[in-house]
Amino acid sequence: MKFTIQNTFSEELPADPVSENTRRQVRNACFSYVTPRKTSDPKLLHVSEEMMKELGLSEQDVQSDYFLQIMTGNKILEDTRPYAMHYGGHQFGNWAGQLGDGRAINLAEVLYNSKRWVLQLKGAGETPYSRNADGLAVLRSSIREYLCSEAMYHLGVPTTRALSLATTEDMVLRDILYDGNAAYEKGAIVCRVAPSFIRFGNFEILAAHNDLKNLKLLTDYTIKYFFPEIKGNGKESYLTFLSEVSKRSLQMVIDWQRVGFVHGVMNTDNMSILGLTIDYGPYGWLEGFDAGWTPNTTDRQFKRYRYGTQPEIVLWNLYQLANALYPLIDDVDSIEKILNEYQDSYKNEYFNMMISKIGLITIENQDHILVKDLEEVLQLTETDMTIFFRNLANFKKGDASQGLQTVKDAFYIPDEITGDVQNQWNSWFNDYDLRLEKEVVTDKDRKEKMNSINPKYVLRNYMAQLAIDAADKDDYSLIDELYKMLKQPYQEQPESNKWFVKRPDWARNKVGCSMLSCSS
Ligand code: AMP
Ligand code: MG
Repeated sequence: MKFTIQNTFSEELPADPVSENTRRQVRNACFSYVTPRKTSDPKLLHVSEEMMKELGLSEQDVQSDYFLQIMTGNKILEDTRPYAMHYGGHQFGNWAGQLGDGRAINLAEVLYNSKRWVLQLKGAGETPYSRNADGLAVLRSSIREYLCSEAMYHLGVPTTRALSLATTEDMVLRDILYDGNAAYEKGAIVCRVAPSFIRFGNFEILAAHNDLKNLKLLTDYTIKYFFPEIKGNGKESYLTFLSEVSKRSLQMVIDWQRVGFVHGVMNTDNMSILGLTIDYGPYGWLEGFDAGWTPNTTDRQFKRYRYGTQPEIVLWNLYQLANALYPLIDDVDSIEKILNEYQDSYKNEYFNMMISKIGLITIENQDHILVKDLEEVLQLTETDMTIFFRNLANFKKGDASQGLQTVKDAFYIPDEITGDVQNQWNSWFNDYDLRLEKEVVTDKDRKEKMNSINPKYVLRNYMAQLAIDAADKDDYSLIDELYKMLKQPYQEQPESNKWFVKRPDWARNKVGCSMLSCSS
């Protein structure tokens, strides 16, 4: 195993001069050098085949002991110096000051096939940014991150990736519900991979410290490597940068809305500057379509990060990024123009996405009403989002009276589809049918198009929990089964039909299924 390594972040940006691993407030630096903690008896549970190939690794490489030792922090790649990044962030709407990689350690930047990838271990021990926590991760949350980030990639959603999942044989103390019932859990490490893990918060912390020199350095660095189409430097290039980040973040959140993903902790330290989904914590997948749903128990009171508000929260986060970049730009009007553009494009992009989810190819004025009515009718009774859109593809033009029958599997309580509810549904199907009459596309072609953007298989909350429960008993087979199925989320996979079902009743209020905490 021999990587081509080119460490640009740690070589071109200023390091924290202190190299001891003590908790501290860091100034005038973009990162701190750290050493991963040694693990007792690491075991590799899974490797992503796609990521392995992206990095130019062979089967033999990933089966070697060397790979295992590197991916669990016991050995360091030759000629490299691992580091933790310095960032701050707004958490739940408030400035939280310094946060930083408290349990993520960047190993190195690897070049392969003209692509740059940073390898990062999550759960490999303390750093100067660990505050009062241990720098470790438990198996439960590591399985969730590992499976979901690869699943999102295959769904076509911009995301950080995962290369490997390993256990450490070190036990980690966690109080899942924050109710005084702490217990030991198996420790684990995921090797995450992305072109860069820079977040909005990396810029915010420098601006908060009025460290304009490094703010400029970091921004120039980010543009040079990740937005190379932006030429020059100075105000114009920073404005274009903000606008590009805004566009990428918009694309990401539209994709979340399309597949029913709820991130759960959209703090600015969890916003990738590359517009990638990052930091899979108490995320969840919509089962019943519900704009007000959040998986995160910590957010239960205000539901700041509920499904329906995700796009607005991205904008709120972009405002924080814009504030951080302001000293480099010094032009409020131009910044506001970019943020206002987000508002307008968001409405358009969201609408276009919903239009394609229901299989329309052309757009008519009245379609706004059709989409709005659908969102309403979907929330009359608990209706499974994934099953609804997937089965809607079977609708036959001219057969409105069969509409409800076509999507019946999506209803959690079929008995509720009577009276007014039934009438509203029938009325929607009538409108939908009338609208389809104006389209030239055949039922067959429409179905094909819809099935290419409405997934059949997503990582439902209870599925990840089943894989976790089995793994707790040393059975890792479900991790592999789900991983393989989620590689082809839009394909019919008859052998996986048992996963194309509504959430089972036992999972409705179960911890880990509908209730997730930040404790990971
Ligand atoms: P999050 O919102 O979970 O992404 O994390 C917020 C901050 O807490 C980040 O600075 C993380 O690095 C840090 N953090 C979360 N869990 C741990 C942990 N177990 N040990 C150290 N730092 C952590
Ligand atoms: Mg985070």
